[in-house]
Amino acid sequence: MSELDLKKYLVRENDNINLKNIDANEYNTFNGTKEKAIKKLNDINIKLEKLHQIYYSGKKHKILIIFQGMDASGKDGAIRNIFQSVNPTGVYVAHFGSPSKLELSHDFLWRVHNKVPADGELVIFNRSHYEDILIVRVQNLKPQSVWQKRFKHIIDFERLLYDEGTHIFKFFLHISKDEQRQRLQNRIDNPDKHWKIEANDFKDRELWDEYIEAYNDVLNKTSFDWAPWYIIPSNKKWYRDLIISNILVDEFTKLKMEYPKPINSYLGKVIV
Ligand code: AMP
Ligand code: MG
Repeated sequence: MSELDLKKYLVRENDNINLKNIDANEYNTFNGTKEKAIKKLNDINIKLEKLHQIYYSGKKHKILIIFQGMDASGKDGAIRNIFQSVNPTGVYVAHFGSPSKLELSHDFLWRVHNKVPADGELVIFNRSHYEDILIVRVQNLKPQSVWQKRFKHIIDFERLLYDEGTHIFKFFLHISKDEQRQRLQNRIDNPDKHWKIEANDFKDRELWDEYIEAYNDVLNKTSFDWAPWYIIPSNKKWYRDLIISNILVDEFTKLKMEYPKPINSYLGKVIV
């Protein structure tokens, strides 16, 4: 157990979340400086690495971790920092961008189902099927009669994964509109970051309030104890990383994983 109050970030079924009332700048749960937090993050990452090794060796569970958030909310950075110590074997990051023509010619879950974890695999989604009820809704890419039904399809899909042995954790990286302005400006001002700029980022920024509304709906309708959402205050990157790593270590610990039993006939043998 960690000293941080992690439960406050969990979305419960009847919470009636409104992101407008949630502070993206908050870091109260951690009693210390940024430097101390970064040191703590290193320690917790090593714990995560150990748990992952046991998980990988056992091949008994499947783990799916979903990251969602506005443009520049830090999905890439969080994934990089949180999993930096984990053995890359058995870990896969799937990024979901604008669907290809082929993907669009199928149902929206086709491209997603193909990427979910097998036993012993840890799969991280950088964006996900939730885009199909976020950008699709906000930018009016499909009529409401189509995207509205997708809430149920997503819940049923995740329930299928859960019933077949997948542990699902979903993180919404919550930044303020002003923090996004600074981060997008930083991309414009910094040549090393120009590759990150997309026309859609500015179009989506104009639709900020519509996105907040769409996210409110997602968080209120699709968080269950078997596939929970966590809202992570993410204006402070170090706090974001610290909270998510701690949640994952707590949750992986609860799985009570063990190394597979060794082959008895080899135990006690002395190699000559
Ligand atoms: P990024 O993650 O910054 O590379 O951006 C990927 C872009 O693809 C974002 O603007 C997403 O909203 C967009 N995207 C992801 N999934 C979908 C989808 N199913 N339909 C339309 N656009 C999508
Ligand atoms: Mg982007």
